[in-house]
Amino acid sequence: MSEPDVVAGGTVVTMHYTLKDPEGEVIDSSSGRDPVAYLHGAQNIVPGLERKLTGKRVGDTLSAEIPPEEAYGERQGDPQPVERSAFPADSELAPGMRVVAQGKDGESFPLWIVDVSEDTVMVDPNHPLAGVTLHFDVEITGLREASEEEKSHGHPHGPGGHEH
Ligand code: ZN
Repeated sequence: MSEPDVVAGGTVVTMHYTLKDPEGEVIDSSSGRDPVAYLHGAQNIVPGLERKLTGKRVGDTLSAEIPPEEAYGERQGDPQPVERSAFPADSELAPGMRVVAQGKDGESFPLWIVDVSEDTVMVDPNHPLAGVTLHFDVEITGLREASEEEKSHGHPHGPGGHEH
């Protein structure tokens, strides 16, 4: 199997990245850590960044502004209070945590905790980065063809990917 030259569907990309908000505040970064790996075309990363990385090569760098509609979407709906007793008594609850709720038809959906008081937990149906334009600085450090197993799992294995 020949190794791919450019980022395309079915390739595993390793990269260093820094993610900043519109004020230039660093939200997340691989700086000082190992590069991260993702499977291109498998929605491992936000759609706008995936699109901008298509066709790039190892060593390429990229600075990209990704609007909400190509990242975590626009905000929809508002935070709602939930009684603390709806959560397991021994669960640690803190702002920023993601919890999975069950709808009335048994479907599950994510909620993000925004505030915790003694009796009430405020949960937001929006990802914390919904409505936010994201600024990414990316350097591609590696590129290889994904294995069949990785393609069927929808994520890369090994360094920077899933360990399981
Ligand atoms: Zn896997």
